[in-house]
Order: sequence, then C-alpha cells, then structure tokens
Amino acid sequence: MTRGRSTLRLKRGHDTPRSHPWIFKGDVAEVSDVEPGSEVTVIDSAGRFVGRGLYNPRPGLCCRILTWTDEPLDAAFFRRQLERALALRARRQAQPPALCRLVWSEADGLPGLVVDRYGFVLVMQCLTLGMARLRPTIVEALGGLFGDAQVFDMDEEAAARLEGFSAARGWARGSGPRSVRVNEGGVGFDVTIGVGHKTGLYLDQRENRLRVGALARDRDVLDAFSYTGGFACHALHGGARRAVCIESSPDAIAGARQNLALNGVAARAEIVATNAFDELRRLERTGARFGVIVLDPPPFARNRSAVDAAARGYKEINLRALRMLEPGGSLLTFSCSHHVSEALFEDICRGAAADAAVRIRVADRLTQASDHPVLLNVPETRYLKGLLLEAL
Ligand code: SAH
Repeated sequence: MTRGRSTLRLKRGHDTPRSHPWIFKGDVAEVSDVEPGSEVTVIDSAGRFVGRGLYNPRPGLCCRILTWTDEPLDAAFFRRQLERALALRARRQAQPPALCRLVWSEADGLPGLVVDRYGFVLVMQCLTLGMARLRPTIVEALGGLFGDAQVFDMDEEAAARLEGFSAARGWARGSGPRSVRVNEGGVGFDVTIGVGHKTGLYLDQRENRLRVGALARDRDVLDAFSYTGGFACHALHGGARRAVCIESSPDAIAGARQNLALNGVAARAEIVATNAFDELRRLERTGARFGVIVLDPPPFARNRSAVDAAARGYKEINLRALRMLEPGGSLLTFSCSHHVSEALFEDICRGAAADAAVRIRVADRLTQASDHPVLLNVPETRYLKGLLLEAL
C-alpha cells in the first residue's frame, strides 16, 4: 500500500532494489500530476512501494528519495531526521560542537539540505526546490531543537537556478550579528554571515587544519589556495616560522588578513594575491623551499568531460610543490572534484613525484571532517580526497 496521492513509477529495469536516493528522468516511466517541488511516492514497475521523495520536473536529477519507509514527509519526519543528525554529531558529548556541519544532505537522509553551525548562528542552504518549499518547516524544527538559534539562509545561486527557485539570502529566524567569532582548536576565525564560499568556512577541512597545526613547528609553510587563511593560521599558531598564503579572491584575502591578525600571527605571514599556478611556478624558479605545503584547490573537474584537463592541473601544482618540499617535509594535497577518484588522484601524484624525481612516503590518507559522513550506498558523499605525503 502507498500513502499520498502523487506517484512516480520507475521503468522496468530501473527499479532493481536500489539504495541510492537519486532518480533521473531516464529512470521514470510516468509521474502522476504533481506540483513541482512536492512529495511523490516512488513505486516500482509492478506498483510496489520503493520510497518517498521530493520531485522537480526541471533538472535531470528529478527526484531524491528521503525515506525508504512508507511514512509521511511531515513536520514530525523532518524533526526526527534533524534529531538523528544532531545525535550523530553529539555522540561523545551532550551537544553537537559549536562549530560543525549539523546536516549534510543525502548523508543525513535530508537530500538538498545543508545546515552548518557557527556558535548560536545556524547557516542553512536549500539546494533543491523541494527543500526550498519546506524551508519554514525546517526553520521551525531547528528553532525547536536549538531554542536560541538564529538561522540564516544562504542558498547557492547555481543550485537555485538549476532547480528553478530564487536563492534566499538573509535571516530566516531572528536577526543575528553581521559576523561571529568561532574557535577551531585554539585558532579563532571571524566569519561574516552571508559572505564567502560555502556557508562561510570550509568546515570539511577542519580536522586537516588541526593536523597542519601539529606538523608546522619551526617550519616554513606554504598555504596555496588559502581562502581565509585557515591552514596558515593553524600552522603559525602551531609554531611555524613563517607562512605564505596564495589566494586570488579579494574577499578571501581580506578574510585571511583579518584572521591572521585575530590570531596575532600576521607578522609571520605573507599573502600573495595572485593566481596560484603562476606563483607556484615563480616560487619554484626562485629556489624556494618549504617544510609544509598545503594544496587545497577548488574543484578543477566540475563534470566528467573536464577530468583530463583537471588531471593536468593537479599534476602541475603537485609537481611544483614536490620540487619545493624539503627532505622530511610534508605535503598535504587535496582534490574535491567528484569526478576525480581517489585512485586517479593518487596516480596523478605518483606521476608528479616521478617527474620531480623525488621519493615520497604516503604518511596518511586524508578526507573530509567526520561531520560530513559518508554513505557506502552513495559514493558521491565521499568527495574530499587527500594525501599526506612525506619527502624521504
Ligand atoms: N584551504 C581553504 C579552502 C580553500 S578553497 C580553507 O581551509 O579554508 C579554494 C580557494 O582557492 C578559494 O578561496 C578560491 O578563491 C581560491 N582559488 C581558486 N582558483 C585559484 C587560483 N587559480 N589561484 C589562487 N587561488 C585560487
């Protein structure tokens, strides 16, 4: 038996037992009359219940399943899902940490919703039309779970355009401060609400930034693609001799200056406001050497056809970094491109090491912070690949 009036029937052959929540237009046999962005019951070709999701006829990825149980997607459902997400973040303590990703889309059974916590400010992103329409329900549930929470909407323009709604930006609950000061393992960051990439900080790199803090004592550090200087602040806080940040976005550079000053380490930092490819080439030519290098570029491959060009980009920056790495030094190198697999990324780095004629130990494999959980059934949830490499 199915509940709910609207149904989406999968094509025969596209309805084999599935555990991935994404349904593409090509999977669909027929959809009953349904308002874009509202709930549909997904059934297989024989009419059996598969799951319940939110449907939007506009994008190719037209439905994401929220539940595999025959239950209504009502306010109580969203409250339960949010409670589960919070409990996961609070496993070893009473409360989720003050700086963390509280909700991460598919990985928390809430496809299309991201909520990040910056102290008492929650920054929320609706990435699908369905979630955007449910915004009031989600905001109310968040208010119920965090009585004093102030919620800020910070939708992504690209997702909103694709899904056909207007990206919300502004206070959805309460009217909070222009900026909040957060603490990441003893390092302070000022986050201007509603400004910058993601929801303000790259929370996915939190654990890796702590790692750099522990590696950097008495080292010269290069933080390439530095955004608001997160890695450099941790390195200098951890006792690095000096840090060089390379970043091209003026807003990010302003944020980096502010964060370096906030932590009292600006005197040991240099910000080079330019294209990192050019600056890495220039530094290498001048014979610069570093004990710790971080390469945290934006996704070079935004789609499958861009993978070859992306691989060349990754190879080039890694080659230059490896040539500048002191013996015994550490390179933390990352790719957040969905279409570059862990194996391919490792291959690219191997190629760079061969060309640089250096011998390198893989000291560790790095990934996104644990509050960006990974679902085995949804490989897209594991998107951040990284290697901690040591020069022998
Ligand atoms: N490591 C950062 C996040 C880096 S995000 C942190 O932990 O917070 C990637 C950054 O690279 C963005 O700030 C973006 O503005 C910058 N960027 C993108 N292309 C660049 C280029 N060609 N040269 C320099 N910076 C670039």
